[in-house]
Amino acid sequence: MADVLVVGSVALDSVATPFGKVREVLGGSATYFSYAASFFTTVRLVATVGDDFPDEHLVLLKERGVDMTGLQMSRGRTFRWVGEYGYDLNEARTLDTQLNVFADFKPVLPSPLKKTPFLFLANIAPELQLDVLRQMERPHLVALDTMNFWIQGKREALLRVLAEVDALLINDGEARQLAQEPNLIKAARSILKFGPRTVVVKRGEYGAVMVSDDHFFFVPAYPLESVFDPTGAGDTFAGGFMGYLASQGVVDQATIRRAIVYGSVMASFTVEDFSLRRLTRLTTAEVERRYAAFQELVRFDI
Ligand code: AMP
Repeated sequence: MADVLVVGSVALDSVATPFGKVREVLGGSATYFSYAASFFTTVRLVATVGDDFPDEHLVLLKERGVDMTGLQMSRGRTFRWVGEYGYDLNEARTLDTQLNVFADFKPVLPSPLKKTPFLFLANIAPELQLDVLRQMERPHLVALDTMNFWIQGKREALLRVLAEVDALLINDGEARQLAQEPNLIKAARSILKFGPRTVVVKRGEYGAVMVSDDHFFFVPAYPLESVFDPTGAGDTFAGGFMGYLASQGVVDQATIRRAIVYGSVMASFTVEDFSLRRLTRLTTAEVERRYAAFQELVRFDI
């Protein structure tokens, strides 16, 4: 079993969906990632929060065994994101992004963290992703996530870091935007030319597709009847994906396929409630039951 290091946002989110709304709840790409991955392996978190960040959120992550030595407490306000969803829950509309303490965050990795074998560059400024990657000592696997905010605003820096990663996890709209290509499969193929050997495209309620030079794989999403808030689904997917791969220590086609299913399993829980609420009630037994349900879901030769 290997450890995973993640750099990304730790946030206070305000979210409205057709089913309710919440203000300044725990969110952030690195938060969802860490919590989900902690079901599979030990996670080390690199991020920053302001002096307004509630202690109880830190306790939540510590209780999951997340190594917080890479979390910097800075003077100022924590990163904030405000978003909303319409009845089509697949697309978040960002109403406000306040980088706050992330605007001048300079991560300095404590030495033991530099040797972590699995690295996840979660959604955050690409310069920060590159800065962390450069401090690492030859990780075994590096994966990256990003979003429209950075594809539009920091394309050059994003392409620089993309050239150095093994896998990209990205949602469908953003894959089209990054590749400037409307067809999703063509978009994924052209992203391979930017550097990553594997591209995993997350398609919300339509599942996920994996494309590499020699392989193609698809999983549906778990058919849920009550989707409450999709925020964090992508990061939770990534946490399940990387957490499982790290727990196996081996990255081959078989483990990648199972990791995509574990990613889908974890994401299917996150969307059942606001913030990390569903994840905090989740048990390993439930994870395994839903994994088995996925196996049943895609078996057609009976
Ligand atoms: P997702 O998994 O794509 O739904 O990610 C949702 C999380 O991403 C929220 O908890 C936000 O706090 C965080 N987020 C939103 N915009 C950004 C951004 N520009 N950079 C980093 N994190 C963000």
